[in-house]
This record gives sequence, C-alpha cells and structure tokens, in this order.
Amino acid sequence: MSNEFYEFPIQRFITPEKFNKLKEFAKGKETPFLIIDLDVIKEKYLELTKDLPTATVYYAVKANPMPEVISLLNDLGSHFDIASRYELDLLLSLGVNPDRISYGNTIKKRTDIEYFHNKGVTLFVTDSIEDLLNISAGAPGAKVFFRLLTECTGSDWPLSKKFGSHPDMTYSLIIKARDLGLIPFGISFHVGSQQRDIGQWDEAIARCRYLFDSAKEIGIHLKMINLGGGFPANYLEPTNPIIDYINEIQRFLSEDFKDAVPILYIEPGRSIAADSGVIVSEVIRVSKKSKNTPNRWVFLDVGTFGGLVETLNEAIKYPIFIDKHGYEEEVILAGPTCDSMDVLYEKYKYTMPSTISAGDPVFIFTTGAYTKTYSSVAFNGFPPLKAYVLE
Ligand SMILES: *Cc1c(COP(=O)(O)O)cnc(C)c1O
Repeated sequence: MSNEFYEFPIQRFITPEKFNKLKEFAKGKETPFLIIDLDVIKEKYLELTKDLPTATVYYAVKANPMPEVISLLNDLGSHFDIASRYELDLLLSLGVNPDRISYGNTIKKRTDIEYFHNKGVTLFVTDSIEDLLNISAGAPGAKVFFRLLTECTGSDWPLSKKFGSHPDMTYSLIIKARDLGLIPFGISFHVGSQQRDIGQWDEAIARCRYLFDSAKEIGIHLKMINLGGGFPANYLEPTNPIIDYINEIQRFLSEDFKDAVPILYIEPGRSIAADSGVIVSEVIRVSKKSKNTPNRWVFLDVGTFGGLVETLNEAIKYPIFIDKHGYEEEVILAGPTCDSMDVLYEKYKYTMPSTISAGDPVFIFTTGAYTKTYSSVAFNGFPPLKAYVLE
C-alpha cells in the first residue's frame, strides 16, 4: 500500500480538496443531511455523452429529482425519463420542454396518460394490452416503445419481473399499437440497477434484434433501442468503469445490427447521481449487547427510513468513513428508528476505529441516488432527509 493511502484513505470516493470543502460546508448544520456536488453530476453526464455520443440520454428522474440537478442536466441538453404526473409537473415548472420527456412507467392510470398528452408529452412506454388501449384513448397518435421483460441477474438492486413483457407478447403489442393508430417506435429493457454483468445487455440486445426482424416481416419498422439504466456507481464493491460497459454494448449492437444500428436511448439514474452525494450523519450511540459479544453496535442518526433503503438485505454497500484514528474493529451498523428493519449492516462487517463515540460525524459516500427520494416522511417523527447543494 502506498503512503498516499494512509494519508487520505477515501481517495476513491472524493478528493482531499473536495472533502475539506464539504466538511467546511457541513459545519454547524444539524445532521443528518445529504450534500450534492453538482460538478460530479456534470462530469458523469459529460463522460457518458462523450463515450456514447450516438445515444440520447433520458436521465431517470427518480434517482435524484432535486431542482438544481434537473436544471443542470436540462442546460446540458439531457432528456428525462419520468414515472408520474408529479415528476412531470416538477420538470415543466423548471422549464423542461415536453418533447424531451418520456413517460417511462408501464404502470399508469388512464387519467395520467391524458394529463401527459395534454401537457405535450408524446413518448410513452408500454408492456400490456390494457395500458396500450389507455394510451390510444388518452394520447392518440403517440409514439410508443415496448418494454421487454428481463431477468436482472447480476444486478445489486434488481427491478424484478414487475416490468416488461415476454417477446411473444411484445410482438402482439407492436401489431396492436399499429392497428390502434399509434407509432410503434422501439424496444426498451432494464437489466437491473447497479448491474455488474455487462453480458446482460448482450442477451437483451439479441432479443431486440429478433423483435426488429419479426416486426419488419409484417411491414413495421422499429427504429429505437432503449438501453435502460443499470450503469454502475462507485460503491464499496468495485465494478468495471463505464467505458467498458459502453464498449461492450457497442460491440453487441454491431454484432446484431451490423451497420444498421438503431437510434439509441439510454436512461441512467444511479450512474449520474449516486457519486455526487455524501450523507453527513452522526453517531448516536456505541454499545454492546452483553459483556462477551464480539461486536459493538454503532447507531447512526440516519438509517433505513431516513434514506438508506437500499441497505435492505445489504444490497448496496455504501463507503462509510469516520475521520478518526484508532484500531479498526468490526461493528454492526444501525439506524435510529424503532423498527428492527432499521439495521444497515450486520452480515457484512464494516470496521470502525475503536475510538469512535457519540457525536462523531460519519460520512456516507455515493449517496446521491435513491436516498432523499426514498426517505420516509415522519416515521417515529423523524423528518425526511434534508439535502443541500455544495457551494
Ligand atoms: C429506475 C429506472 C432507470 C434508472 O436505472 P439506474 O439503474 O438507476 O440507472 C431507468 N429506466 C427506468 C425505466 C427505470 O425505472
């Protein structure tokens, strides 16, 4: 290990300059809270558009809908993938043009479809005949793309089998869409969030090719593939860099489509927002359950209900840092509420300096995505996670 490692042990997550700035900014503010560094959002967006210039980015707003984040991405030219009329209202209030918005939720009410249509949104996803009939009634003539079911194998936060339809069903939906006077535009999929296995895109792209061919045989020319999200953020467990994902995906595309690669859409949420965030928390208590148990419990003032929902089943392992020296011992980490689900990490053992005590600040990195939006309103009376933009 290099000396550098000892001098600054969190260099994989933040630079020393940024960390100092963050600590300065955090001073005097009541914990817990999230700090978002907009420079990182910008960097991630520009990196992706540079590596994959042929794709249109539809930022998945649910990952982090802070107005500052949306406005920045809007200024950079991003499009947006949203899931509800509330997200639509937010985007429109920030001046996002409806032609840059995709209604990417397959589960929607007919009244919501009408609402989107009336506000000028013309791009809708679907995965069922019931939804398709609603789209044709509520948004006549709209462009639709069809969500394929995927297994989500290899992802840390799978989206399960809730969304998408089997290719056979998708094929009938494509035909039905045309018959209803809608525009069958393309195919989408999501291989599962924080996907480590790049090969998952291979299989999904091959299914798209099959559907493009089948549709073409009956005179329907699909034009677009939506590669979804699933791109990685920088948590404790390392992944390949994003450029490896892009290179492999481009190889899969050219293998399957040769020189007729379709229009590409991509819907990153986590990979844009996660690395930009740091939660600043505080140790409430360090204690043992009995004299002879090996591990101390460390209770933080942020937990499962305060924004760290993705610690369920210890799925996402956030880098956690305490700015203190001391012998590193294994601890069990838990949140502040009166629910037994509010234990962050018990199987996976984080180590913390033996010198920690109540009142110490705790920095939880890579928390810019799926934290603030997931925090509960007032479980046990705790307010939702506060969020600031680093200035
Ligand atoms: C959540 C979601 C995304 C974003 O996924 P990430 O893995 O966070 O990038 C993209 N598209 C759809 C349809 C989603 O539901």
